Amino acid sequence: MTDCIFCKIAAGEIPAKLVYQDEHITAFHDINPMAPVHVLIIPNHHIESLAALSAVDAEAVGRLLAIADQIAQTSGVAASGYRVTFNVGRDAGMAVHHLHAHLLGGRKLGWPPG
Ligand code: 5GP
Ligand code: ZN
Repeated sequence: MTDCIFCKIAAGEIPAKLVYQDEHITAFHDINPMAPVHVLIIPNHHIESLAALSAVDAEAVGRLLAIADQIAQTSGVAASGYRVTFNVGRDAGMAVHHLHAHLLGGRKLGWPPG
């Protein structure tokens, strides 16, 4: 996708504060953090959202979740607790249409979410 901001971050074409990167996954600090730890974790290749997942993509999402926990551990929030969220569609407020997990931690997170 030529016009996708997260594709460009994964490709290193626009800057982001990277936390993790391998051939499949990139993780970086959210530009507008909602918690002391707010990291976005994305597949490097373009997938629109959870609603557009193929069987092959499902493997990428499995990897992504394992990396979310790794990052929670290295960020120091694994013991106190954290949340991993996927926004899908308008009611969830999805703004960037490249699948991403939000890893949030470092403060008490309200439930239910707003
Ligand atoms: P969504 O609402 O789509 O689930 O979340 C998109 C997230 O991406 C938002 O939390 C927003 O702050 C973040 N974001 C949007 N553009 C950029 C950017 O250029 N760089 C970074 N690091 N985060 C971004
Ligand atoms: Zn993309």
